[in-house]
Amino acid sequence: MAEKRRFKTQVINDEILEKFNLKNRYAFLNNNLTAILTTKEFNFLREVERFCLRFEKRHNITHGPDEDIYEWIPEFGEKGYITRQHSFDMVDVGYEDWGLAADFLRNLAIDMFDPQFAMGGGATVLAVNPIYEHHENIPIRLEALKDLVTGKSPGAILITEPERGSDAVHQLTTCDEQEDGSFILNGTKIFNTNGPKSKWVIAYATAEKNNGTLMAQFLINTNWDGFTVERVGIPWVPKLFVGKEYLKNLRVPKECILGPVGKGREHLFEGLIPERIAIAMMSLAECWGALTHAVIYANNRKQFDQEILKFQGVGFSLADLWAKTTNLSIGLLKFCEAYDDKYIKFEGNIPKNITQAMVASASQFKYQSTGLSKEVCYECANLMGGAGLCDNTLMHDYLNISRIQEILGGSRQIQQYIMSLSLRTLYKMSVT
Ligand SMILES: Cc1cc2nc3c(=O)[nH]c(=O)nc-3n(C[C@H](O)[C@H](O)[C@H](O)COP(=O)(O)OP(=O)(O)OC[C@H]3O[C@@H](n4cnc5c(N)ncnc54)[C@H](O)[C@@H]3O)c2cc1C
Repeated sequence: MAEKRRFKTQVINDEILEKFNLKNRYAFLNNNLTAILTTKEFNFLREVERFCLRFEKRHNITHGPDEDIYEWIPEFGEKGYITRQHSFDMVDVGYEDWGLAADFLRNLAIDMFDPQFAMGGGATVLAVNPIYEHHENIPIRLEALKDLVTGKSPGAILITEPERGSDAVHQLTTCDEQEDGSFILNGTKIFNTNGPKSKWVIAYATAEKNNGTLMAQFLINTNWDGFTVERVGIPWVPKLFVGKEYLKNLRVPKECILGPVGKGREHLFEGLIPERIAIAMMSLAECWGALTHAVIYANNRKQFDQEILKFQGVGFSLADLWAKTTNLSIGLLKFCEAYDDKYIKFEGNIPKNITQAMVASASQFKYQSTGLSKEVCYECANLMGGAGLCDNTLMHDYLNISRIQEILGGSRQIQQYIMSLSLRTLYKMSVT
């Protein structure tokens, strides 16, 4: 049986269970995307898929509750599948396929392989991006960048605090500059994906509590004195390690200050486009994962002597979810390709007016994709009846993880707030 056991009690019959194998799920995804992707994009998607298929087989992975997804990172890192947002020439990696579009495809393949593993990888990318932007060829920054990109360690980003969530610019974690140019950090961070497993983290602090204009950005090695971490339980993603970090008189050397006091807020916002787009990618990948399961099931499961797809209640509902997922995927891919073109044209320095418009687009995609993931994953599970709710397939992972995405990277309400502000700006730009 190709689909190995990840469960104690079998609910779904052998014939259908076998059809859920990763090869079939990739084939369904690929048949949906052939018309949309360029040959280069399609070849890259297939390359990552082939790696995941071999990896799953070689390590006998069942995606069952006892597997440690963090053990998989080094092999994916070695192959260059942690992030493809950049080519990473400065750390001698030099990927040929890179950019937001390539990263979307990487995400699709990896999420279909294992959604919790894909989400952990996404958090590492959040730590990669600020170092990429501000490494200034300083050896310790390049060392951290290489470790993260090549899978030597996962990474984490420490923005959220116990008392400062949505209001991320009024931080309580402080940074005090010392005579030698180093900083002493004090404060507590929370809900930081990969925090307990990461060697390198990026943290924000402020020279004066609640003062957003005095924020700074730091690269931290978690082995340094003054850094301790506890694991926060998030039952919807039981394989991920989410942290609560205590920074107590933690000294950060001068060479690890990625953004000096006064630049922290700007650096925080600079990372928002790729972060929100990455969450949108993950959410759409979850939609495809759930849809694929439901389509395979509905084409095989019989009730009243007919495949359930043939009943309008099932078939028309799946068609609706499929249309929404396809269309939003095409929209996101177009955005990624446009972003990549501009990134190359302006050699990484996209003009402010274009970035401004992209901030709104990133919020729009994040807002709609996370909402769609919640809808598609739940509805697909529902259309599979009991089979969609049991532990025999990855459907329960999709169902659970899809409920988290609206909170990460700025909640649904915060995205609405950002979009409403953008509407005001656009109105002022447009109407005389
Ligand atoms: C699984 C998981 C992983 C995470 N990973 C990371 C990570 O890697 N790094 C990191 O730094 N953080 C991470 N977070 C934190 C996440 O970004 C925050 O949880 C999120 O920003 C919301 O903050 P909060 O939980 O404090 O909620 P609050 O800010 O307290 O919000 C509570 C509610 O109030 C609403 N609300 C707040 N302000 C407004 C407003 N102005 N208008 C309308 N509604 C509002 C919110 O939308 C929400 O519904 C993670 C969280 C989870 C659950």
